[in-house]
Amino acid sequence: MIRIQIDDLPTFRKKYLKRVANVALARVNILLVSLKHLNGVGISTADIGYLRYKHITRKIINTVEGWNLPESDFDTYNYVTTVTNYVKSPNNLLKINLKGLFDLMTFLTQKKGANLKDLLICLPDQLKQLNKKLLSNYKVDSVDDRTIIKLGFNYDLFKDVSNKIKTHFRVENLVLYCPYCNIGEADYSKTEHGTPATIHYLDHFFDKASYPLLCYSAFNLVPGDNTCNSTINKGGTNFDDKFHLNPYIKGFSKTMVFEPILGKIGSEIAEIHLNIKPVYGSTEYRQLIGKCKKINEASKFGNINVFKLRTKYNRSHVRKNASHFVDKVYELISSRSSLNGFLTRMGLAHSTDNYKKWYEWEAGGASFDEKNFNNHPYSKLFRDLHDDVLTKDTNPVNDDIRAIMSKS
Ligand SMILES: [Zn+2]
Repeated sequence: MIRIQIDDLPTFRKKYLKRVANVALARVNILLVSLKHLNGVGISTADIGYLRYKHITRKIINTVEGWNLPESDFDTYNYVTTVTNYVKSPNNLLKINLKGLFDLMTFLTQKKGANLKDLLICLPDQLKQLNKKLLSNYKVDSVDDRTIIKLGFNYDLFKDVSNKIKTHFRVENLVLYCPYCNIGEADYSKTEHGTPATIHYLDHFFDKASYPLLCYSAFNLVPGDNTCNSTINKGGTNFDDKFHLNPYIKGFSKTMVFEPILGKIGSEIAEIHLNIKPVYGSTEYRQLIGKCKKINEASKFGNINVFKLRTKYNRSHVRKNASHFVDKVYELISSRSSLNGFLTRMGLAHSTDNYKKWYEWEAGGASFDEKNFNNHPYSKLFRDLHDDVLTKDTNPVNDDIRAIMSKS
C-alpha cells in the first residue's frame, strides 16, 4: 500500500472539474427536473433534457410503487398526463423524502453547480464527512432515498460521466503500479492508433451502492490493477476508513515493515514477515488488519488482509528476487567494493544521488525514495529489506548510508 502522490494538487483538481463537472451537472439537473415534476410542479416535456428525464421519472415511479410502467406512458404525448395523474392519485411517494431529495439536488446544482463541484473534488480525508453531512442535512439517508440519488449519480450507467472520469485518470496517469499492492501494473498506455495497450481499473474506495453521492468524486477513485479490484481481493468488499486505508491519504509508510527471515543457506530469505507496528486496537492497526490479532487473509477488514499481501509477497519468485537483492546489500556493506566499482564504471563520485543510483540499479529500477514507490513494483519491499540490513549493521564505515536513509 503506497500513498498516491500528486505534485500539483490545485491543477489536478482544476483539470478534473474541467473534464467532469459539466457532464455530472447535467445528470444531476435531469434528476432535479424529475423530482420537481413528482412534486407536482411544472410538469412538462419542455424542460431541458426531456429525452433523459422521462426515463428517470419513470424509474422513480416504478421504484417507489414496484410497478413496471411501459416507456410509452412517458412519451411526448403521454408524459404530462401520466405524471399529473400519478401525483394526484394516492401513491407511495412518502416512501422517499421527495422534498429532501429535491432540496439536495437544488443545493448541488445552484450557482452553476458550485456545491456539486465541491463534492467532485472534495479532499480524501473529508469525503465521508461531506457525504454524511449532505445526507443528514436533507434527511435523505434511507435505502429508498439512496436508490433515487443513484438516478443522478450512476457511474456504471451514465457512460457520458464515467468516460470523462476515465479520460482524466488516463491522461493524468497518477501511478505506474497499483497503490494497493505495489505489484500489478496500473498505468495507461495507448497504441499508435490511439487504442489502449494497458489500462488501470478505477476502484471506488467508498462503494457506489452505499455512497452514491461519492461515485463521481475524484479522490474516491483509486487507479489500481485488475487483481486488487477483482472479487478475489477488494471487489464486493465495502470499504470504510475505520478499517481500510485510502491511498490518497496515506500508505503503509513505516506502520508495516517487511522483514526478511533468513533460511539456512546464506542470505536466502525463507519468509518475508509483515511486521505490524501500531498497537492492537488503534485506528492505524485496524486499517492494516482489522480486529484480527494477526494477519487473516479470509477477513474483509484491513488492507493487508483484503489484498492478501502476505501471500503475494511470499511467493517463491518474490522471495528469490528479494534474496538476490539482500545479497547485494550485504556485499556492499561488507566491502563497499561493489558501490565503488559501480561508481567508477559510471565515472561518478560518491554522493547521495549516486548511492541512490547504485540502489536503483541493484533493485531492478525500484526507487529509493518513498515518493516514487508507485513507479516500480516491490519498491517498499526492497527499501525495507535494505533498511533492515543497514539497521542491523554496526560498522561506522556505513554511517553515511544510514544518514541517507534517515533523509529519504
Ligand atoms: Zn494491486
